Amino acid sequence: MSPVFNFSAGPAVLPREVLLEVQKEMLDWHGSGMSVMEMSHRGREFMHIAAEAEEDLRAIMGIPKNYKVLFLQGGATTQFAMVPMNLLRGRGGIDFVDTGHWSKLAMKEARKFADTVRVAASSEDRGYTYVPAEANWQIDPKAAYLHYTSNETLGGVEFPFVPNTGEVPLVCDMSSNFLSRPVDVSRFGLIYGGAQKNIGPAGLTIVIVREDLLGQVAPGTPTMFDYKIQAEGDSMYNTPPTFAIYVAGLVFKWVQRQGGLKAIEQRNIEKAAMLYESVDTSNGFYTCPVEKPFRSRMNVPFKLADENLDESFIKEASARNLLQIKGHRVTGGMRASIYNAMPLEGVKALTGFMQDFAKHHG
Ligand code: PMP
Repeated sequence: MSPVFNFSAGPAVLPREVLLEVQKEMLDWHGSGMSVMEMSHRGREFMHIAAEAEEDLRAIMGIPKNYKVLFLQGGATTQFAMVPMNLLRGRGGIDFVDTGHWSKLAMKEARKFADTVRVAASSEDRGYTYVPAEANWQIDPKAAYLHYTSNETLGGVEFPFVPNTGEVPLVCDMSSNFLSRPVDVSRFGLIYGGAQKNIGPAGLTIVIVREDLLGQVAPGTPTMFDYKIQAEGDSMYNTPPTFAIYVAGLVFKWVQRQGGLKAIEQRNIEKAAMLYESVDTSNGFYTCPVEKPFRSRMNVPFKLADENLDESFIKEASARNLLQIKGHRVTGGMRASIYNAMPLEGVKALTGFMQDFAKHHG
């Protein structure tokens, strides 16, 4: 058991078991006499680590053969640019679903590359507290792709469905709910995400892309930003983030030991239900602005009715080893991120504390 429960939005809690494995293998990986950090990325050992990580990820997510899996750097933010550079394919426009902070940033970057960036649907009218009903989306059939953010990490809004965009390729920023539930990858043109939530250490970015979308990169695109070149070089056109790939590989094995994504999803449903219940039954002491069907299973934002208590809430929580629950500077309030590696005991400890705190200060 960890001495603390870490509710950070990312970089975030990793499975204790994985950290212990990393510790055990730190100085001598499988008799190699060296740390993975010190290995040549082109050596037999690391090539094996990378190949196995990809194989395991493919197995966990059921990634079809006609999709490439890329292990890149630069975070999800770099993908905000790399996706349009690669996927515009001479078309003028991109459609976006605007559900808050991260979709807005993705849109802002896309404007540098596309002639038109259209908002096919937005939840701005009610303060980004829901996902717009799909029936009302206005998708341009000529759009190069439609982009959405499956989980808004700040707002705590998560899509309970995968959009249907017909012939228009679907692109998803899955950074903060990657591997948290089963997904049908064949529905997507491209999925991307930074690793530092459910996958592993910061520094690794995963891209899963359908092969037929590759090879029409915009002229002048830097070599490193060309998915096709990255795919042809097995993500080793240059030195990849080797240690992060190694740790991600161990996390993939951990996901398999948990029973795969269906089992992980069940645990995530249970943890989220417990935390929202604690907010909803507090007689208004705590509130969550997000409409119920769209509440994130990963990031639970909540506010105290009396903002003046925020500081004591955070202080008393840390005294009970419940860490990093302060909300994002943009939103204020609190946010408890309960990614895959957060044990149920952590959520129980938090809800127990929330009830005690409300009793003493209510
Ligand atoms: N998209 C989402 C949904 C995120 O949560 C984040 C990071 N919190 C980003 C993009 C940006 O990721 P990065 O820091 O890896 O660039």
